[in-house]
Amino acid sequence: MRITIDREVCVGSGLCVLIEPAVFDQNDDGLVELLDEGPLTDAGGTVEDAVQRCPAAALGITPD
Ligand code: SF4
Repeated sequence: MRITIDREVCVGSGLCVLIEPAVFDQNDDGLVELLDEGPLTDAGGTVEDAVQRCPAAALGITPD
């Protein structure tokens, strides 16, 4: 899977970084950045959890 981000709607809450800091980061403006653009495995489900819990629906998952 690959992660998609939409900085136009990201509100910089940082929740994705707290849930999965190996994949998500925040830039100087607080907006989401990807540390690993994939393809990713998500055996623990943390990436999917971060995507689902993003308060702005700024994250998405696409198949490889
Ligand atoms: S959880 Fe969503 S709104 Fe918060 S920083 Fe990550 S992408 Fe942005």
